Amino acid sequence: MTRYAIGLGSNLGDRLENLRAGDAGLSQLGKITARSALYETEPIGGPRQDPFLNAVVLLESELEPHRLLDACLEIEAQRGRERSVDWGPRTLDIDIITYDGPPLSDDRLTIPHPLAADREFVLRPLAEIWPDAPVGDDTTAREQLEEVGPQGVDLLVRQWVRDRPVGSWLAGAQLALILLTVIGVLIDGSAENLDEHPVISALGLTLAILGAALGGSASVSAGRDLTVKPEPEEGADLRDAGVYRLVRHPMYGGLLLMVLGAALAAGSMYAMVGWLALTILVLVKADYEERLLRIRYPAYASYRRRVPRRLIPGIF
Ligand code: ATP
Ligand code: CA
Ligand code: CA
Repeated sequence: MTRYAIGLGSNLGDRLENLRAGDAGLSQLGKITARSALYETEPIGGPRQDPFLNAVVLLESELEPHRLLDACLEIEAQRGRERSVDWGPRTLDIDIITYDGPPLSDDRLTIPHPLAADREFVLRPLAEIWPDAPVGDDTTAREQLEEVGPQGVDLLVRQWVRDRPVGSWLAGAQLALILLTVIGVLIDGSAENLDEHPVISALGLTLAILGAALGGSASVSAGRDLTVKPEPEEGADLRDAGVYRLVRHPMYGGLLLMVLGAALAAGSMYAMVGWLALTILVLVKADYEERLLRIRYPAYASYRRRVPRRLIPGIF
């Protein structure tokens, strides 16, 4: 039995589906004993192209290295891999990164992969599941990872799926907290607050109106694709027009402004506490959601750089 570390990469078509197809193909050749998290990598070298989704798996197999390479090339071909441009975009790239045998090199195959030791997108996932993996010149994946430093590789999600039950829990918690703040305003807010604290109340009303405007313009831009769940609707396009040019989560920004405004205007301590909790939840949910969006839309990474504000245009 030989232990192989195999690198998978895709930056064309449905990247997650491509990696999963590669994984399924490899599992026919032996037993997959570990899978790294999914990483997103800015392409280096070659023509301008979308970012890659990358991962490494460990395969225990009886196959001899050259037979394994043939099988990997076969899986790539089945996934529509075309080699027209060197380092060009590809549906699926499967590389044998390293194994637990002696180094080998001939005209078809070199193990460890000659560039593995220079590439963060190989070393990070590899170090995660096999830190002591040999990557050439007597170094291991973990040691070499410290040598190369960051090259624009981001961990997206640990599991190779589009959404997990935590998505529904976050959505449920969001609805529950909104309800709690509304109840807070009803039970301990008062209309007299408007007379007793006119400045705070006026500030609250202003924030609420701004929040409604922000949320309203978000729903105009989003149209029917709006959903409370973190996973984007099937077939929905990446939203980057209208108010989404100013801020990536205008709905959440609008919601938080409205809730804060209502809590201030009504002078409700309960609602303020609810608002704080809702803010924390929204930040966590927006972060989770963005990882799913990055898996779905290769263009999301550059959208994120173009629009650095998360919730409030020009501020945060
Ligand atoms: P890079 O080598 O920079 O990752 P690439 O993956 O885009 O480039 P390919 O066109 O996929 O390059 O592969 C070209 C050839 O590399 C393969 O046909 C194979 O014969 C050879 N090769 C040599 N060593 C390996 C290895 N360890 N894993 C996979 N292919 C290898
Ligand atoms: Ca490669
Ligand atoms: Ca390759």
